[in-house]
Amino acid sequence: MQIKINRGLIQVVEGDITQQNTEAIVNAANTQLVGGSGVDGAIRRAGGPEITAECDQIRARRGGCPTGQAVLTTAGDLAATYIIHTVGPIWRGGVNDEAVLLARCYHSSLTLATNHQITTISFPSISTGIYGYPIQQASKIALSAAADFLGQEETVSEIRFVLFGEDDFSVYRRALECLTEN
Ligand code: ADP
Repeated sequence: MQIKINRGLIQVVEGDITQQNTEAIVNAANTQLVGGSGVDGAIRRAGGPEITAECDQIRARRGGCPTGQAVLTTAGDLAATYIIHTVGPIWRGGVNDEAVLLARCYHSSLTLATNHQITTISFPSISTGIYGYPIQQASKIALSAAADFLGQEETVSEIRFVLFGEDDFSVYRRALECLTEN
């Protein structure tokens, strides 16, 4: 399913982020940029050691990546050219700025993409795995952040949300339908 906003597309697909052919894929990283499980582990396994080496360099240079911000590395053996690593908030009941920080992840990632003339980008569902963010709420934040960005910026032409499994895909598809109804 996809919608057009301004000059850009928002797509929601079921699949594996490591297999996407967009110029950039986004990783749900942690503040230390050390290898994790979940989508981070999948990306590092598929992309090879270059990704971890670049993350280590960034950590040595600037101490990692704060929650809500994003950093860029190359993508090793993956079809994508770049990986944008962003750090989502850990869900702590929703009263610790989680929504603001989650929206900031998407905005920071898209801004970084624009700064590197990246026009196509794939996101996983940030924070809804190990970090425990309820996916219904997270999906609305993710899609609204993408739509807001496309409304203001014209460099990015395609934002693809890649959901791992049918259940997550259904939630995002429904959220995209709601976005178009409003
Ligand atoms: P976080 O720590 O930000 O919650 P996780 O990696 O635990 O990050 O999970 C984020 C989301 O990524 C989850 O919805 C999970 O199902 C999904 N995911 C895991 N592996 C992949 C993959 N290969 N492609 C796309 N999404 C994935």
